[in-house]
Amino acid sequence: MGPGYLFAAAAFGVPLIDGFIADRTASLIADALFLISFVFYSGALLCRFGRPSYLLPRLVFTGVMYAGILYAALVAESTPIEFLLDDLGCVLLLTFAIVMSLRRVRHVADRALLVAATLVVAETVIRNVAFVFIAPSYGGPDGFLASNYAFAMQAGASILALVFALSALAAATLDTIIAHRDAAERDPLTGMLNRRGFDRMIEESRGVEGAVIICDIDNFKWVNDTFGHGPGDEVIRAFAEMLQVRLPEGGFAARFGGEEFVIVLPSAPLVAGADFANRVRLAFAAIDRTAIGFDGGPIGFDGGITASFGVAGADAADRSLYEQIARADKALYAAKEAGRNRVMVEGEPPSDMSGPRLYYASEKYGC
Ligand code: GH3
Ligand code: MG
Ligand code: MG
Repeated sequence: MGPGYLFAAAAFGVPLIDGFIADRTASLIADALFLISFVFYSGALLCRFGRPSYLLPRLVFTGVMYAGILYAALVAESTPIEFLLDDLGCVLLLTFAIVMSLRRVRHVADRALLVAATLVVAETVIRNVAFVFIAPSYGGPDGFLASNYAFAMQAGASILALVFALSALAAATLDTIIAHRDAAERDPLTGMLNRRGFDRMIEESRGVEGAVIICDIDNFKWVNDTFGHGPGDEVIRAFAEMLQVRLPEGGFAARFGGEEFVIVLPSAPLVAGADFANRVRLAFAAIDRTAIGFDGGPIGFDGGITASFGVAGADAADRSLYEQIARADKALYAAKEAGRNRVMVEGEPPSDMSGPRLYYASEKYGC
């Protein structure tokens, strides 16, 4: 956007050097500068909304429009057609970028930016239509350009240009704010939500109901002590990754503490939650630790590293999700007490739902 405004300012500044060069040359320089500024504006929109730059087609189009402008000015010697072609080129460049960006709108500042760009397009079109139909009643283009009406239109265009710039600034500012918020709400090791991000998620999806799972890697202190902190981090990352690829749509997970995670499966019944936990448990235990290690080197451990899970279902009497989390935590504690590497479901007493483990063991070890 910056270079766009610089070129537009230079174009507006051309009349200042009017006295030193021929009128026709000055006008052709201004035409070129305006077109270049819109090449930058359209490029800025495409870039902001993550679209390809389409630089070559946009440059070819601009070249063709400028060739038309040269023809109108030098051969046909028609100032109105020269002006019309210049504005048409600018409008089409911007309209193309707006249309390409429409589907990528993420927040209100994006929408404001596209609305401002559309207003710039609309104003240019209206100004040109007025120019074509109203100019003759002023005795031609020169009389029209000297009129109060033309002055008001120029002022309107300047204000819109300012609105366009401010909305671009607002959109860029919001991007920065969102990037900082993400940094504050995500855990850098795993990229998962942290406790703060999880709390906000819960707040936003008020009244979320379903199964809640708390899981904790078993004997992790031993993993750290035996293999080192780096491989320990690698184990946490592998757990997080394995969890996230298995999350069903609508489900979300967060890293709550060192090697502790919470999973929310909205609208899943308790049994489905236990089944999900069990599948994650089996997949984690099956990871080949001889191949996964710190800095690409294997840990060199051919035993399984396991995790324990506590699952709780929604209860109409719960005042907040944290009451359900507390019940899942209690079930997790029971899983640890019962020997780890298992899924326990809330209840008095909690029940072991790791049944498929037997099936898995018999399959893996042929017993
Ligand atoms: P349990 O089976 O009962 O869960 O035993 P545990 O050893 O896993 O539990 P404990 O709470 O005693 O140990 C957790 C360890 O996790 C202690 C801490 O140093 C380690 N830890 C916490 N955060 C990180 C981390 O980000 N990276 C690594 N490598 N270790 C961490
Ligand atoms: Mg642990
Ligand atoms: Mg722990």
